[in-house]
Amino acid sequence: MRVFTNATILCGEDFETVKNGYIAVKDGVIKEIGEGSSPYKNTVDCKRGTICPAFTNAHVHLGDSIAQDIGAYESIKKRVGKDGIKFEVLKSDSRKICKGIGRSIREMRKYGITAFCDFREGGIKGIEQIKKSLPETSSAVILGRPDGDDIDSVLERCDGIGVSSVNSYPPEDLEQMSRACKRNKKFLAFHSCEVKDDFDRVMKYRPDFLVHLTNAGEESLEKVFKDKIPIILCPRANAMLGAGIPDISIFENTLTAFGTDNVMVNSLNMLREMEFAFKALRGISRDYKFDGKKILQAATINGRRVLGLPDNTIEDGKIADFIIFRRREYLYNPVLAIIHRYETGDIRGIVNVQKYIGTHRWVGDRRIGD
Ligand SMILES: [Zn+2]
Repeated sequence: MRVFTNATILCGEDFETVKNGYIAVKDGVIKEIGEGSSPYKNTVDCKRGTICPAFTNAHVHLGDSIAQDIGAYESIKKRVGKDGIKFEVLKSDSRKICKGIGRSIREMRKYGITAFCDFREGGIKGIEQIKKSLPETSSAVILGRPDGDDIDSVLERCDGIGVSSVNSYPPEDLEQMSRACKRNKKFLAFHSCEVKDDFDRVMKYRPDFLVHLTNAGEESLEKVFKDKIPIILCPRANAMLGAGIPDISIFENTLTAFGTDNVMVNSLNMLREMEFAFKALRGISRDYKFDGKKILQAATINGRRVLGLPDNTIEDGKIADFIIFRRREYLYNPVLAIIHRYETGDIRGIVNVQKYIGTHRWVGDRRIGD
C-alpha cells in the first residue's frame, strides 16, 4: 500500500474538498480517503498540494502531430477538410508520423492526461501506426476508419469507428459501418455540427457519442438533451479554426467531455482547454454563475464515462488515477485554481494504474518526499 498524505483532495463527482487529508492506494485502487494525518507508514508527503482526478483527452488526432500550426491562416476546409492540408501531411513517411504520435503521447502524460481517444485516419495502416507508438501504460481508445479496408478487419484492430464527416462516405457505407459497430460491440462516433448543423443526418447511423456540436441549432440541441447523447467538446480547436464556440447549455443537459482535437490545430494541454472554455463560455453567455465544476468534470471524470473506461473519481474503491499539483498559497477555491491558475509545471506527480491489472505506479518528481 502507498499513502499520499498532507494534501487538499477533490473527492467525489462534485470535488468535495478534503483538507489536509490522505489517500491510501492498494493494488491500483483507492482503499481509503481520510482527513488529517495518515495512520499508515510508507507515505508520500504532498506538502499541502492539491489532488484531483487525472485528465482524459476525449478527442484527439495524433497522426498530424508532425505539422503543428501548418496552414494556420487557411480555412477549416482547406486545413482539415477532405483532401485538405492535413491529409497531405498524413501521406508523410510512416516513421516520421509514428515519431510524432509517440512524442504527443509522452507530452499528454506529462500534462496529466492518462487516457485519450484518437480519431485515426488511414485505415488499418493508420491503426498500426498508433499502436506501434503506444506505451504499455496508455489507456487509449482508438477509433479507426475503413479508408478502403474491410470494416470487420478494421474493427478487429481497434475500438470502433470515428467518422470525420457524414459527407465522407455514401449513406450505404455509413449504414454498413453502423451495423458492423453494433454487431462487434464497438464505438461509432462522428464529428457533427462543427461548421453547420448535420445532426439529423448523423443520427440516422445511431452513434454512441458526437464530437463538436459547435453549430447545432436549437432543435438539434433539444434532441441531444432529450436522448442524453454524450458530447465531446473542443472549444479551443473550434475557435482556432474560426468555427465558433459550443453552447454553454450542453454542460447542464448531457454528459460532456473535452478533447483537444487535431494536434496540427491545437496543443494537447487540458489546463489551457479548461481555462479557455470556462472564460469564453462565461463571457459569451454573460452567465457569471456558470460553475467551474462542470469544466473540471468535463476534463477529468466525464471523458472516461463516455469512453467506457474505469471511473477515476476520487472515492473508495475507484481506480487510483490522479494528479498531484504543488502547493500554492492564498488559494480559496482549488477547483478554480486548477482551471485558471495552475500551469503544467505545477504538476508534481501522477498516480495511475497500469492497464488496470492491479498494480499502480507513481510517477513523481524528486521534490516530493525530499
Ligand atoms: Zn476531430
